[in-house]
Amino acid sequence: MSNAGTDCIFCKIAQGRAPADKVYEDEHVVAFWDAHPARPIHILIVPREHIRTLNDIPSDNHILAHIGQVAVKIAQQFGVAESGYRFFVNVNRGGGQVVFHLHAHVIAKKEETPGS
Ligand code: AMP
Ligand code: ZN
Repeated sequence: MSNAGTDCIFCKIAQGRAPADKVYEDEHVVAFWDAHPARPIHILIVPREHIRTLNDIPSDNHILAHIGQVAVKIAQQFGVAESGYRFFVNVNRGGGQVVFHLHAHVIAKKEETPGS
């Protein structure tokens, strides 16, 4: 059932072989708008490496810590770091995971009004 590499949509986005509205990228991750935003701000943070689920992160791999740091940067970029946002990972079918390439959601109601 593994769809690593050529068939995985998030691998394709990470490799620039499928379109995405990117908001951040570095050597380890790419972040882009969710195609079906649940809220006005809905960004996905995806490791470049194909890891199927949270359960599959090797014990010596610190990608999740990096994803957390990138989530903070994105929240700051959208002006919601202080007002608040949600940061979560769905794990396997029962946890609501639909795309089987690890990703974290960053969701917020709206950007802060400047000066508020
Ligand atoms: P999850 O339920 O955690 O697996 O979330 C998968 C998310 O990926 C959903 O919110 C989808 O809207 C989103 N998604 C699926 N395909 C794409 C795509 N090609 N570009 C952007 N977001 C996508
Ligand atoms: Zn993948």
